Amino acid sequence: MRDVIRSLLDLQEVDRDLHRVLEELKRLPAERAARQAELTRLAAGLADKRLAAKNLRVRIKEYEDQATAGRQRIRKLENDLGGARADAQLHAFFEHQIKSLKKEIGSAEDEALKLLEQVELHDREAADLQARLDSEQKVFDLFAANVDREIEAADARRKVLEAERAQRMRGDIPQEVLVDYERLLRSRGGVALAQLDGRQCQACFMDMPTNMTVRVARGAELVRCPSCDRILYALG
Ligand SMILES: [Zn+2]
Repeated sequence: MRDVIRSLLDLQEVDRDLHRVLEELKRLPAERAARQAELTRLAAGLADKRLAAKNLRVRIKEYEDQATAGRQRIRKLENDLGGARADAQLHAFFEHQIKSLKKEIGSAEDEALKLLEQVELHDREAADLQARLDSEQKVFDLFAANVDREIEAADARRKVLEAERAQRMRGDIPQEVLVDYERLLRSRGGVALAQLDGRQCQACFMDMPTNMTVRVARGAELVRCPSCDRILYALG
């Protein structure tokens, strides 16, 4: 097993870096996607704000039209009023009509004014969002350009490390050991082997029972750390 351990250590030298590079190649696109999603979320918020303002403007226009129509109607009634001086009852009726129309116009104008305040608030918020979106877009564009370069560099490094790994793969490691080793690489941050120094695992710093240190020193079998599960090896 000493030869197997030596071959694994040889692989481990490359695999630690390879693991790091592969993690980078996962992390970078994920980060870019997360930032892109945040920009999309901001843009959607801005579109909502603009749509709300637009809908409010439609309602304001309706109230304004209502007020205009009311004023036209009042002018007509005032004309009719002139012709109805003789008829007191009709006169009173027109006056009553005019009074209630004025009331309607007043409340339509009040509503329009209230909505106008809301629109102005939406407009200010939309302007703030637009400014934030513009500046975040600039930051993102810079970031995205850097990420592209970083991904390219990491990918080139991956190819070099994989070629190096292929060279170091001498075929003397039993298949089941290799499978275990590679599983450990993934679950233990790219470090599948741990040196045993005295009684202590140098990866998780757990002390081993004596019989285990003897088994590791003998090197006749693969011994795993009971705490971190890594394959233990002794120097020398
Ligand atoms: Zn350990």
